[in-house]
Amino acid sequence: MEIAIISGKGGTGKSSLSAAFATAGNEIVLADCDVDAANLYLIFNPVNEDEQVYIAGHKAIIDYDLCSGCRYCVDFCRFDAIGVANDKVVIDEISCDGCFLCSRICPENAISMIPNDKSRMFSGSFRKGKMVYGRLAPGEENSGKLVNMVREKARMISSENNLDIILLDGPAGIGCPVISTITGVDRVILVTEPTVSGLSDMQRAVDVVLKFGRKPSVIVNKADINEQMTGKIIEWCHENNIGIAGILPFEKKIAEAMIRGLSIIEYEPECSVSIEIRKIWNNIIKSN
Ligand code: SF4
Ligand code: SF4
Repeated sequence: MEIAIISGKGGTGKSSLSAAFATAGNEIVLADCDVDAANLYLIFNPVNEDEQVYIAGHKAIIDYDLCSGCRYCVDFCRFDAIGVANDKVVIDEISCDGCFLCSRICPENAISMIPNDKSRMFSGSFRKGKMVYGRLAPGEENSGKLVNMVREKARMISSENNLDIILLDGPAGIGCPVISTITGVDRVILVTEPTVSGLSDMQRAVDVVLKFGRKPSVIVNKADINEQMTGKIIEWCHENNIGIAGILPFEKKIAEAMIRGLSIIEYEPECSVSIEIRKIWNNIIKSN
């Protein structure tokens, strides 16, 4: 069973909740699909047993022994990645989209394309099972493909180790890596918070999830910081036939736990939020 935890926006407490779910029951496979900003490895400190290179596109480099300085490539780069500094044509590797155009048009064949090979996928063990996560290097791209790679590895580990549940901690937002995270999963849990942007970003995320053939359930986190807005979120969900998986109050101990490298379930197992999170988790895994 694959369960994806996503949020329409950052800052809703999605990763803290994923960490809590990961420690709320039996051993699982935990896949951190937030490859642009993976952070669960910081909490769980997994023992990495495997490391794979992820080729995230290509970037252009100039061979200055061949370059005549004609500046032909500067005019053609649609991404403004090629400029002139100190009378020398230079390529900004962060802006380079890897489209290959300059390497094809350079009259001196001075530009070649090299693979972006700094991104990695790691897999191994953590204290509640197995863990897989991707780390996209700065400026490297195609995060959706890296998410697919993480999910494939998680499935393989799940079947090799007889661990039935794969928990996917997805990225915030509604972009390509989110779509890669939710495609084909059994359950999508959407974490939101009671703010105006929490509501509108949740609505956009619900739309995306529905378009991809899944029906999300919503958790309103920090619900007591704005009860009126929590009421609006619940009302909108009811009107749109979207289930509420749980309502959680603000709990400052969650941040204390994270600072200590623990989930709230590990830090304060009997506090009311931990009890509620265990209930929500049990309902999620039973509802398949
Ligand atoms: S087109 Fe080729 S030769 Fe001309 S400036 Fe660019 S890299 Fe140099
Ligand atoms: S590969 Fe494309 S984006 Fe990169 S520098 Fe060349 S033309 Fe620009």
